[in-house]
Amino acid sequence: MKRRAGSRTTAVRPPALPPSIPTSLGRVRIVRATKEALASDGTPAYGDWEWHTRTIRLWDGLKGWPLRQVLWHEWTHVVLQDAGLADEFPHVILEAVCDAIANAMVLRERGGRGSDDL
Ligand SMILES: [Zn+2]
Repeated sequence: MKRRAGSRTTAVRPPALPPSIPTSLGRVRIVRATKEALASDGTPAYGDWEWHTRTIRLWDGLKGWPLRQVLWHEWTHVVLQDAGLADEFPHVILEAVCDAIANAMVLRERGGRGSDDL
């Protein structure tokens, strides 16, 4: 299909960050955190997740689709840990699985448009 000169696609904007998300074990709170707070265990990260407080922390420097990707990445950690599977994966595989699912969730939110609306 040809586009007329001057026509544009409508950009798909990421949904607003919710204050919490539902899970099978109750709501998980979502908070923003500084890069320093996220690296307090010695490992830099864009986000993390703590099982006993049911809290996902996301770096306050993230926005747009990268923020959504990190949210879904941490959400995948939640789902796998709640299911008792997280400790069954070698760390590098667990992170790759979380990234793969997060990427699929972001692509779904973007209506399968890939980079068309970056
Ligand atoms: Zn991770």
